[in-house]
Amino acid sequence: MAAAAVAGRSSRGRSLDRPAGVRTSDPLRTFLDRNRRLFVLTGAGCSTASGIPDYRDDNGDWKRAQPVMLQRFLADEYTRKRYWARSMVGWQRMHAARPNDAHHALAALGHAGRIEQLVTQNVDGLHQAAGSPDVIDLHGRIDVVRCLDCGERVPRATVQADLLRRNQRFAHLDALTAPDGDADLDGVPFDLFESPACGRCGGLLKPDVVFFGEGVPKARVDQALAALGRSDAMLVVGSSLMVYSGYRFAQAMAARGKPIAAVNLGRTRADDLLAFKVTEPCGEALQFLLNEQLSPR
Ligand SMILES: [Zn+2]
Repeated sequence: MAAAAVAGRSSRGRSLDRPAGVRTSDPLRTFLDRNRRLFVLTGAGCSTASGIPDYRDDNGDWKRAQPVMLQRFLADEYTRKRYWARSMVGWQRMHAARPNDAHHALAALGHAGRIEQLVTQNVDGLHQAAGSPDVIDLHGRIDVVRCLDCGERVPRATVQADLLRRNQRFAHLDALTAPDGDADLDGVPFDLFESPACGRCGGLLKPDVVFFGEGVPKARVDQALAALGRSDAMLVVGSSLMVYSGYRFAQAMAARGKPIAAVNLGRTRADDLLAFKVTEPCGEALQFLLNEQLSPR
Protein backbone atom coordinates (compact mmCIF):
# COMPACT_ATOMS: atom_id res chain seq x y z
CA MET A 1 0.00 0.00 0.00
CA ALA A 2 2.83 2.37 0.89
CA ALA A 3 4.59 1.81 -2.43
CA ALA A 4 1.45 2.63 -4.39
CA ALA A 5 0.87 5.74 -2.33
CA VAL A 6 4.46 6.89 -2.85
CA ALA A 7 4.12 6.37 -6.57
CA GLY A 8 0.92 8.40 -6.54
CA ARG A 9 2.64 11.19 -4.72
CA SER A 10 5.63 11.15 -7.05
CA SER A 11 3.36 11.16 -10.07
CA ARG A 12 1.92 14.42 -8.81
CA GLY A 13 5.41 15.85 -9.08
CA ARG A 14 6.20 15.97 -5.39
CA SER A 15 9.66 14.49 -5.32
CA LEU A 16 10.60 12.68 -2.14
CA ASP A 17 14.34 13.09 -2.31
CA ARG A 18 14.62 16.85 -2.23
CA PRO A 19 16.20 18.36 0.88
CA ALA A 20 13.86 18.89 3.81
CA GLY A 21 12.33 22.25 4.51
CA VAL A 22 13.50 24.23 1.50
CA ARG A 23 10.25 24.63 -0.39
CA THR A 24 7.72 27.19 0.67
CA SER A 25 5.15 25.18 -1.24
CA ASP A 26 5.46 22.50 1.42
CA PRO A 27 4.61 24.40 4.61
CA LEU A 28 4.30 21.30 6.77
CA ARG A 29 7.80 20.14 5.95
CA THR A 30 9.16 23.62 6.65
CA PHE A 31 7.21 23.80 9.90
CA LEU A 32 8.64 20.49 11.10
CA ASP A 33 12.12 21.56 10.07
CA ARG A 34 11.95 24.85 11.95
CA ASN A 35 10.28 23.60 15.10
CA ARG A 36 12.25 20.79 16.64
CA ARG A 37 10.13 19.94 19.69
CA LEU A 38 6.50 19.43 18.86
CA PHE A 39 3.38 19.22 20.94
CA VAL A 40 1.14 17.01 18.81
CA LEU A 41 -2.61 16.78 19.38
CA THR A 42 -4.54 14.21 17.38
CA GLY A 43 -8.26 13.63 16.90
CA ALA A 44 -10.75 11.43 15.10
CA GLY A 45 -9.51 12.43 11.63
CA CYS A 46 -6.29 10.57 12.40
CA SER A 47 -8.18 7.28 12.68
CA THR A 48 -10.75 7.55 9.86
CA ALA A 49 -8.41 5.73 7.46
CA SER A 50 -8.35 2.88 9.99
CA GLY A 51 -12.10 2.49 9.58
CA ILE A 52 -13.21 4.45 12.62
CA PRO A 53 -15.61 7.16 11.41
CA ASP A 54 -15.30 10.78 12.46
CA TYR A 55 -17.98 12.45 14.57
CA ARG A 56 -18.05 15.72 12.69
CA ASP A 57 -18.39 16.93 9.14
CA ASP A 58 -16.13 19.41 7.37
CA ASN A 59 -17.98 22.25 9.00
CA GLY A 60 -17.37 20.91 12.49
CA ASP A 61 -21.02 19.92 12.97
CA TRP A 62 -22.29 16.54 14.21
CA LYS A 63 -22.56 13.91 11.49
CA ARG A 64 -24.65 11.64 13.66
CA ALA A 65 -26.69 11.77 16.81
CA GLN A 66 -24.65 13.35 19.58
CA PRO A 67 -22.92 10.74 21.78
CA VAL A 68 -24.41 9.77 25.12
CA MET A 69 -23.93 12.26 27.93
CA LEU A 70 -22.44 11.03 31.20
CA GLN A 71 -25.39 12.34 33.21
CA ARG A 72 -27.87 10.30 31.18
CA PHE A 73 -25.67 7.22 31.35
CA LEU A 74 -25.57 7.44 35.13
CA ALA A 75 -29.23 8.31 35.64
CA ASP A 76 -31.05 6.12 33.16
CA GLU A 77 -30.91 2.33 32.92
CA TYR A 78 -32.37 2.28 29.40
CA THR A 79 -29.64 4.67 28.23
CA ARG A 80 -27.03 2.30 29.68
CA LYS A 81 -28.60 -0.71 27.98
CA ARG A 82 -28.68 1.14 24.67
CA TYR A 83 -25.10 2.34 25.13
CA TRP A 84 -23.75 -1.13 25.91
CA ALA A 85 -25.71 -2.77 23.08
CA ARG A 86 -24.32 -0.28 20.57
CA SER A 87 -20.88 -0.48 22.14
CA MET A 88 -20.89 -4.29 22.00
CA VAL A 89 -21.50 -4.09 18.26
CA GLY A 90 -19.14 -1.15 17.72
CA TRP A 91 -16.32 -2.82 19.62
CA GLN A 92 -15.95 -5.49 16.96
CA ARG A 93 -14.84 -2.92 14.40
CA MET A 94 -12.89 -0.86 16.95
CA HIS A 95 -11.04 -3.97 18.09
CA ALA A 96 -10.17 -4.93 14.51
CA ALA A 97 -8.85 -1.45 13.58
CA ARG A 98 -5.16 -1.16 12.76
CA PRO A 99 -2.90 1.91 12.61
CA ASN A 100 -2.70 3.80 9.31
CA ASP A 101 0.01 5.98 7.72
CA ALA A 102 -0.83 8.90 10.02
CA HIS A 103 -0.17 6.80 13.13
CA HIS A 104 2.99 5.32 11.64
CA ALA A 105 4.30 8.73 10.55
CA LEU A 106 3.79 10.18 14.04
CA ALA A 107 5.45 7.12 15.58
CA ALA A 108 8.46 7.70 13.32
CA LEU A 109 8.55 11.35 14.31
CA GLY A 110 8.39 10.32 17.95
CA HIS A 111 11.21 7.82 17.61
CA ALA A 112 13.31 10.52 15.95
CA GLY A 113 12.95 12.47 19.19
CA ARG A 114 10.94 15.22 17.58
CA ILE A 115 7.78 14.96 19.67
CA GLU A 116 7.86 16.47 23.13
CA GLN A 117 4.42 15.04 23.79
CA LEU A 118 1.78 13.25 21.77
CA VAL A 119 -1.71 13.88 23.13
CA THR A 120 -4.67 12.17 21.55
CA GLN A 121 -8.38 12.76 21.85
CA ASN A 122 -8.91 9.31 20.38
CA VAL A 123 -9.68 6.36 22.62
CA ASP A 124 -8.71 3.67 20.11
CA GLY A 125 -5.10 3.06 21.21
CA LEU A 126 -3.86 3.15 17.61
CA HIS A 127 -0.91 5.46 18.36
CA GLN A 128 0.37 2.90 20.85
CA ALA A 129 -0.32 0.11 18.36
CA ALA A 130 1.84 1.98 15.84
CA GLY A 131 4.63 2.17 18.42
CA SER A 132 4.42 5.81 19.49
CA PRO A 133 6.27 6.28 22.75
CA ASP A 134 4.66 8.17 25.64
CA VAL A 135 1.08 8.95 24.55
CA ILE A 136 -1.38 10.86 26.72
CA ASP A 137 -4.86 9.46 26.12
CA LEU A 138 -6.73 12.64 26.94
CA HIS A 139 -10.13 10.98 26.78
CA GLY A 140 -9.11 7.55 28.09
CA ARG A 141 -9.08 4.15 26.41
CA ILE A 142 -12.00 2.18 25.03
CA ASP A 143 -10.20 -1.12 25.65
CA VAL A 144 -10.47 -0.68 29.42
CA VAL A 145 -13.66 -0.77 31.50
CA ARG A 146 -13.90 0.70 34.98
CA CYS A 147 -16.27 0.08 37.88
CA LEU A 148 -17.76 3.38 39.03
CA ASP A 149 -18.31 1.97 42.52
CA CYS A 150 -15.09 0.17 43.49
CA GLY A 151 -12.69 1.44 40.80
CA GLU A 152 -11.82 -2.02 39.48
CA ARG A 153 -10.40 -1.93 35.95
CA VAL A 154 -11.16 -4.77 33.59
CA PRO A 155 -9.97 -5.38 30.02
CA ARG A 156 -12.74 -4.60 27.58
CA ALA A 157 -12.15 -7.99 25.95
CA THR A 158 -13.30 -9.67 29.18
CA VAL A 159 -16.43 -7.53 29.37
CA GLN A 160 -17.08 -8.08 25.65
CA ALA A 161 -17.03 -11.86 26.09
CA ASP A 162 -19.52 -11.51 28.97
CA LEU A 163 -21.74 -9.16 26.94
CA LEU A 164 -21.82 -11.51 23.97
CA ARG A 165 -22.57 -14.53 26.16
CA ARG A 166 -25.54 -12.84 27.78
CA ASN A 167 -26.85 -10.98 24.75
CA GLN A 168 -26.62 -13.44 21.89
CA ARG A 169 -29.70 -12.07 20.16
CA PHE A 170 -27.80 -8.81 19.60
CA ALA A 171 -24.48 -10.36 18.57
CA HIS A 172 -25.24 -10.55 14.85
CA LEU A 173 -26.05 -6.85 14.52
CA ASP A 174 -23.68 -4.65 12.62
CA ALA A 175 -23.79 -0.91 12.26
CA LEU A 176 -21.77 2.17 11.61
CA THR A 177 -19.29 2.63 14.43
CA ALA A 178 -18.46 5.96 16.01
CA PRO A 179 -15.05 7.03 17.36
CA ASP A 180 -15.92 6.02 20.91
CA GLY A 181 -16.93 2.51 19.90
CA ASP A 182 -20.61 3.42 19.93
CA ALA A 183 -22.69 2.30 16.96
CA ASP A 184 -25.88 3.41 15.27
CA LEU A 185 -28.62 0.86 15.77
CA ASP A 186 -32.22 1.79 15.15
CA GLY A 187 -35.34 -0.23 15.83
CA VAL A 188 -33.59 -2.50 18.30
CA PRO A 189 -35.35 -3.52 21.57
CA PHE A 190 -32.61 -2.25 23.86
CA ASP A 191 -34.70 -2.94 26.98
CA LEU A 192 -33.93 -6.64 26.47
CA PHE A 193 -30.20 -6.02 26.65
CA GLU A 194 -28.31 -7.07 29.78
CA SER A 195 -25.77 -4.43 30.79
CA PRO A 196 -22.55 -5.68 32.37
CA ALA A 197 -21.89 -5.42 36.10
CA CYS A 198 -18.66 -5.37 38.11
CA GLY A 199 -17.47 -8.90 38.86
CA ARG A 200 -16.09 -7.77 42.19
CA CYS A 201 -18.84 -5.61 43.67
CA GLY A 202 -21.74 -5.75 41.23
CA GLY A 203 -21.37 -2.02 40.59
CA LEU A 204 -21.92 0.05 37.49
CA LEU A 205 -19.38 -0.45 34.71
CA LYS A 206 -18.38 2.26 32.27
CA PRO A 207 -15.74 2.26 29.55
CA ASP A 208 -12.68 4.09 30.87
CA VAL A 209 -13.26 6.97 28.48
CA VAL A 210 -14.28 10.54 29.12
CA PHE A 211 -17.93 10.85 28.11
CA PHE A 212 -19.49 14.02 26.81
CA GLY A 213 -20.49 16.04 29.85
CA GLU A 214 -17.56 14.64 31.81
CA GLY A 215 -14.32 16.48 32.60
CA VAL A 216 -10.86 15.28 31.65
CA PRO A 217 -8.94 14.29 34.83
CA LYS A 218 -6.94 17.32 35.97
CA ALA A 219 -3.64 15.44 36.39
CA ARG A 220 -3.84 14.39 32.74
CA VAL A 221 -4.45 17.96 31.57
CA ASP A 222 -1.64 19.30 33.78
CA GLN A 223 0.80 16.71 32.42
CA ALA A 224 -0.08 17.74 28.86
CA LEU A 225 0.16 21.47 29.62
CA ALA A 226 3.59 21.00 31.20
CA ALA A 227 4.79 19.29 28.03
CA LEU A 228 3.20 22.02 25.94
CA GLY A 229 5.30 24.56 27.85
CA ARG A 230 8.46 22.69 26.85
CA SER A 231 7.50 22.57 23.17
CA ASP A 232 8.45 24.87 20.30
CA ALA A 233 5.24 24.49 18.34
CA MET A 234 1.94 22.64 18.18
CA LEU A 235 0.76 20.35 15.43
CA VAL A 236 -2.92 19.41 15.33
CA VAL A 237 -3.65 16.24 13.36
CA GLY A 238 -7.23 15.37 12.45
CA SER A 239 -9.11 17.38 15.04
CA SER A 240 -11.67 20.13 14.62
CA LEU A 241 -10.87 21.18 18.22
CA MET A 242 -14.60 21.72 18.71
CA VAL A 243 -14.38 20.14 22.15
CA TYR A 244 -12.85 22.45 24.73
CA SER A 245 -10.61 19.68 26.13
CA GLY A 246 -8.59 19.92 22.92
CA TYR A 247 -9.16 23.58 22.05
CA ARG A 248 -7.63 24.69 25.34
CA PHE A 249 -4.20 23.47 24.18
CA ALA A 250 -4.38 25.63 21.08
CA GLN A 251 -5.34 28.57 23.28
CA ALA A 252 -2.44 27.85 25.63
CA MET A 253 0.04 27.58 22.77
CA ALA A 254 -1.22 30.79 21.17
CA ALA A 255 -0.93 32.56 24.53
CA ARG A 256 2.74 31.60 24.57
CA GLY A 257 3.19 33.15 21.14
CA LYS A 258 4.27 29.83 19.64
CA PRO A 259 3.15 28.63 16.21
CA ILE A 260 0.31 26.18 15.63
CA ALA A 261 -0.27 24.20 12.44
CA ALA A 262 -3.07 21.80 11.63
CA VAL A 263 -3.77 18.92 9.29
CA ASN A 264 -7.53 18.70 9.06
CA LEU A 265 -10.02 18.27 6.25
CA GLY A 266 -12.50 20.77 7.60
CA ARG A 267 -12.94 23.85 9.73
CA THR A 268 -11.36 23.90 13.16
CA ARG A 269 -12.37 25.99 16.14
CA ALA A 270 -8.80 27.35 16.20
CA ASP A 271 -8.61 28.38 12.54
CA ASP A 272 -7.81 31.97 13.50
CA LEU A 273 -4.95 30.78 15.72
CA LEU A 274 -3.25 28.68 13.04
CA ALA A 275 -0.10 29.57 11.15
CA PHE A 276 -1.50 27.38 8.36
CA LYS A 277 -3.70 24.39 7.76
CA VAL A 278 -3.15 21.45 5.44
CA THR A 279 -6.54 20.30 4.14
CA GLU A 280 -5.61 16.73 3.23
CA PRO A 281 -6.35 13.37 4.83
CA CYS A 282 -3.92 12.94 7.75
CA GLY A 283 -2.14 9.91 6.33
CA GLU A 284 -1.50 11.60 3.00
CA ALA A 285 -0.29 14.83 4.56
CA LEU A 286 2.15 13.07 6.92
CA GLN A 287 3.23 10.24 4.68
CA PHE A 288 6.44 11.99 3.63
CA LEU A 289 7.70 11.35 7.16
CA LEU A 290 7.75 7.62 6.41
CA ASN A 291 10.03 8.10 3.43
CA GLU A 292 12.91 10.11 4.75
CA GLN A 293 15.57 10.04 7.40
CA LEU A 294 14.31 12.14 10.27
CA SER A 295 16.96 14.18 11.94
CA PRO A 296 16.85 14.23 15.74
CA ARG A 297 16.14 17.49 17.49
ZN1 LIG B 1 -16.84 -2.83 41.43
